Amino acid sequence: MKCPHCGQSQSRVIDTRDSGDGIRRRRLCTNCDQRFTTYEQINTAVHIIKSDGRREPFDRIKLLNGIRMACAKRPIATAELEGLAESIEEYVHNAGKAEIPSSVIGNMVLDRLQVIDPVAYIRFASVYMELPDLESVRAEIDRFIGR
Ligand SMILES: [Zn+2]
Repeated sequence: MKCPHCGQSQSRVIDTRDSGDGIRRRRLCTNCDQRFTTYEQINTAVHIIKSDGRREPFDRIKLLNGIRMACAKRPIATAELEGLAESIEEYVHNAGKAEIPSSVIGNMVLDRLQVIDPVAYIRFASVYMELPDLESVRAEIDRFIGR
């Protein structure tokens, strides 16, 4: 841990406090005598379980790219897509689970896309729900139009 004032890496902990979701440490640089604060938190990497059983760490950027692809050339503001990815990330980190099935994430995206843009919804559904053929895509469209 480098001192933010002089860049030297030796410091002494002068105060340790529990801040609820982590530990806050007040440090004194042994080189320049300046103080700085560090936080220690539990590593809350949430893993996504795919339908084939593979697991991978949740990645907001990857999710956002998937949503963007489904929404390509649709009249949807970038900020709206980013907001969607952010709200899902928030859910993922607040769910208090170490693992979340990818279908849960997929359904959350679909719920939102359904409202935002039906074409993007069908595109996303065909990839994430792994609709195997045109018949199931049509069934999904029928279900959508039927509402
Ligand atoms: Zn220093």
